[in-house]
Amino acid sequence: MASVDLHSVGLTYPDGTVGLDAIDLRIADGEFVALVGPSGSGKTTLLRTIAGFLAPTTGLIRIGESVVANATTNVAPERRHLGMVFQQHAVWPHWNVARNIAYPLKLTKVSRAEREERVAAVMQLVGLEGFGTRNPTTLSGGQRQRVALARALVGNPQVLLLDEALSALDEPLRDALRLELQSLTRSIGLTVVHVTHDRDEALALADRVVVLDQGSIQQIASPPELVSYPASASVARFMADATLFEGVVHAAGFTASNHPCAVGHDVLGTRFRFGEEGTLAVLPEDVRLDADIDGAAEVTSSLFGRSGNDVIVDWAGVRVRCRVTGRRPLVGERMTVTIHRALFYPTASLAVREGAVR
Ligand code: ADP
Ligand code: MG
Repeated sequence: MASVDLHSVGLTYPDGTVGLDAIDLRIADGEFVALVGPSGSGKTTLLRTIAGFLAPTTGLIRIGESVVANATTNVAPERRHLGMVFQQHAVWPHWNVARNIAYPLKLTKVSRAEREERVAAVMQLVGLEGFGTRNPTTLSGGQRQRVALARALVGNPQVLLLDEALSALDEPLRDALRLELQSLTRSIGLTVVHVTHDRDEALALADRVVVLDQGSIQQIASPPELVSYPASASVARFMADATLFEGVVHAAGFTASNHPCAVGHDVLGTRFRFGEEGTLAVLPEDVRLDADIDGAAEVTSSLFGRSGNDVIVDWAGVRVRCRVTGRRPLVGERMTVTIHRALFYPTASLAVREGAVR
């Protein structure tokens, strides 16, 4: 088990595409970190750089106490002692399950007796007892993914790297494997970096979530912190389905441009200055809807949810997402919208503004 330390890691692909831009990230020994972000944000690039398949253009990576990559070194993947699972399970079809799982041990020349013992132990760990002689092609998708997980774990890796490892599975199975992945990695105290485009999965599993966009880190936070206090309007939209309004803060509060949305200062949960332009982010749970035949908003969809109905209203041309407990509104119903908390993000950063004022 080990920590993973990335210090100012940048990666530019040969064609000039910036994959990673000055990534600073310290993952503690035994921590479960989820990497999320839109498609193309650099998740796979970051994971493959930690794994050693890609060499950073700048910066330094440390795994445990050893520097595995810097300006002069790039330790080969097989010498980093990591376990890896990808979305498309690369299981050899002509080998039985046990032989597939034992493969990394064979590469490192572990004795046959020890191999058998460790394969049996890891098969029990991932719930594949009794499957050793099965042909992998006769297994379900979830079982094959367990084979891939067992193979990643059999060498006692320092860190487990998962790239969309559950994304190809269907929902009930994915949910089950998600739970197992957490109990399994927590029970052995494994350091995990789990890449997913599924934000609920990231929030459900991780100690900390890292939000990437365009190769740089937008926010690192615990799941509750990330959902309640997103660091930017784009994180608020991506992670929490916030509705965004452009506008300005003045003496009476925030007023949207070209939209009736206006809120008082008491509602603004973030710092602001009078006269400042910026984006208001409104989280679904911070909106109240009241049925009103003269209401300015109309319900366009209303989905049942266990922790509140997921309702979208069209409010003067803006789709506002709301979490509504109690009666589920009907599509077409008219509503008034009340915002009881909102986050304001100035367009220009405060530092830049202060610089300009001076
Ligand atoms: P994600 O896994 O978050 O979807 P990737 O890490 O795969 O994103 O990609 C990050 C960025 O790097 C994207 O703009 C992608 O197009 C680009 N990219 C990925 N692989 C290569 C490559 N081999 N050559 C050039 N650009 C690449
Ligand atoms: Mg990817």
